[in-house]
Amino acid sequence: MRLDELGEFGFLARVQAALPRGAPGVLLGSGDDAAVLVCGDNYLLVSTDAMVEGRHFRREWLAPAEIGERAARAALSDLAAMGGVARGLFASVAFPPDTDVADAEALARGLETGAVAGGAHLLGGDLIASPGPLFLDVTVIGEATAVWPRGGTQPGELLLVSGELGRSASALALLASGVSVANLRIDLRERFLRPQPAFDLVAALQPLQVVTAALDLSDGLLADLGHLAESSGVQLRVNAPAVPVAAAARQTAANLGREALPLALASGEEYELAFTIPRESLEAVQQAVVQGGARPVTVIGEVVSGSGIVVEGADLPRTAGWDHFGDAP
Ligand SMILES: [Mg+2]
Repeated sequence: MRLDELGEFGFLARVQAALPRGAPGVLLGSGDDAAVLVCGDNYLLVSTDAMVEGRHFRREWLAPAEIGERAARAALSDLAAMGGVARGLFASVAFPPDTDVADAEALARGLETGAVAGGAHLLGGDLIASPGPLFLDVTVIGEATAVWPRGGTQPGELLLVSGELGRSASALALLASGVSVANLRIDLRERFLRPQPAFDLVAALQPLQVVTAALDLSDGLLADLGHLAESSGVQLRVNAPAVPVAAAARQTAANLGREALPLALASGEEYELAFTIPRESLEAVQQAVVQGGARPVTVIGEVVSGSGIVVEGADLPRTAGWDHFGDAP
């Protein structure tokens, strides 16, 4: 059987089934946003994120410095998704041998710029020649006093999402239609080039100790919520009209003759957080977000017993998000 027949998640399930459970010093292994290792009184977080030219980025869309910065920011987002802070970043890069030295240097500088934006530095990596496209793999190391796993929510809790959705998919849709990155409106371009890991939200909410489960939105809200529901063994009911859709996404959707909500629900690489809290903690969360100057959060649904995702208040086709061995968006 081929990988594209089995699918990303089918393959991962096979790998994970073959790994040992409960290794000493390991709180969480494969299957969450980051692995969690016990380290003294704290938790050490480790996550990796790989990107390959032609699949995750195109060189006509992104300058080398932008490729590096975006990769660093995307990788760091997995630390925020665990409720952690960043400590360091490592990058292995496979360059085609004919890559201009200035371009390679710019990519490395971009990695450091992205690391610094997340409160860390580029601490090392590996450099190899690629017989094909440009490839990079970013490893991030973080730390947390308590972690926000995917599997921690239970029926009765509230489901929230941070920020506003849809700009990432809007940017991609416009780029695919022939608009250049330079001609994207600034809020779409920024979301596409410089996603913001939710460390502001971690700083505001971690002291409350109320987040029971979280993940960052890389595949699209509905697809990512599917992972949360599965890990926690619950059903997530999403009130579609409550999902915050960015004004720029509404406008882009209208210009392209598409509906804004399905675009926002399937918008990947948003790097916002979806998370759950006990109902009685909502007021404290809203206060902490305002007082901490963090990005806004919105209640979009609730956790009930059962499985999967139920979207209420909208008629949607049953597709959203994507699989890395399926068709590219
Ligand atoms: Mg993630």
